[in-house]
Amino acid sequence: MSIKFLPYAKQRIEESDIDEVTQVLRSELITQGPKVPAFENAIKDNVNAKHAIAVNSATSALHIACLSLGLKSGDWLWTSPITFVASANCALYCRAKISFVDIELKTGLISLKDLSRKLRKAEAEGCLPKILIPIHYGGASCNMREIKRLSQQYGFSIIEDASHAIGGSYENQPVGSCKYSDITVFSFHPVKIITTGEGGVATTNHDAIAEKMSVLRNHGVIKDNNRFQYPPEGDWAYEQQSLGFNYRMSDIQAALGISQLKKLKRVVIERNKIMKVYKNLLVSESLDFLDIPKDVLSTFHLAVIKLKAVSKEQHREFFTILRRANIGVQVHYIPVHRQPYYRELGFKEGDYPKAEAFSQSVISIPMYEALTIDDQKRVVKEIQGAVEKIM
Ligand SMILES: *Cc1c(COP(=O)(O)O)cnc(C)c1O
Repeated sequence: MSIKFLPYAKQRIEESDIDEVTQVLRSELITQGPKVPAFENAIKDNVNAKHAIAVNSATSALHIACLSLGLKSGDWLWTSPITFVASANCALYCRAKISFVDIELKTGLISLKDLSRKLRKAEAEGCLPKILIPIHYGGASCNMREIKRLSQQYGFSIIEDASHAIGGSYENQPVGSCKYSDITVFSFHPVKIITTGEGGVATTNHDAIAEKMSVLRNHGVIKDNNRFQYPPEGDWAYEQQSLGFNYRMSDIQAALGISQLKKLKRVVIERNKIMKVYKNLLVSESLDFLDIPKDVLSTFHLAVIKLKAVSKEQHREFFTILRRANIGVQVHYIPVHRQPYYRELGFKEGDYPKAEAFSQSVISIPMYEALTIDDQKRVVKEIQGAVEKIM
């Protein structure tokens, strides 16, 4: 008899989603039709931003966000080491230099103490960052008010990597409103809060940045003859004025996004309930949950538990026991600077000790809307058994 596998995250697709998508499949335009702009409008209304630019992934959104803020060779971009590699790779795509700011152990979010210290030092040494990418780890917003204040003091731009955090809020404002940032990026990969299969969006309140991002996602091509650099030779004319990419989202994806977005509120409430159940059932001297900062509504993209005072080996064993019990646990994340590609750039063990310690103590346990109470009880029982075995 095989026991049901419970992944750490998965999408929920309902009949209403399938209906929206099949409508597009039966229509004339399956890409570059009306659904992408409709999805963008729905997103910007939902998060209270002036512009939303839909693309084929959050990775693409991060890339064109950096380019639209002028990131180039010689510039520095800083982010947290506790993130997916995409948040750092975007710097390297632009030939900029990358550095990291260590985290706060209680939340997994960028440490503002470390950030302030690193900024003071960088100012003295003349290597301040052009862009900072704070990560809303697990679905909880960073302290954006303070990050914004530092950006004004030191003159850097801010891209919020909110891949985990659509539907969350900070100071009662939706994440994505860009009140304290230049651009916010969301991911619609199936493990995230809502999905378009693959997909992402960048929101901003700056007209010029929005315009740059929408040109960059489409090869750098402009079709509006009022903005041509040369007189058009005919009605077919279009001009490539910069080096862009094909980062477009399709109408098939956007239709799924429109339908999924309607359920966002319900999804976030449900995830908060699931987290509450875990917190009630999982009471153990050996385990901790992450703190959620005040003024933050988390989406709980991840249900993260922390093993207190364990060795690397105990953490590894705990993980293995749960995987053997068909619980699809995961570690979020291997610190980016520990990846071979980043070691090659000169990063070493010990560069960001808190991120390294965090990575050796956390485990993400199953968290998705369709998780039942019985599933949760099974997860809890297996965790309690695993704790006993490793201690
Ligand atoms: C998932 C994720 C990304 C990349 O998203 P894609 O849409 O898969 O490109 C970037 N940053 C973080 C923090 C993520 O979790």
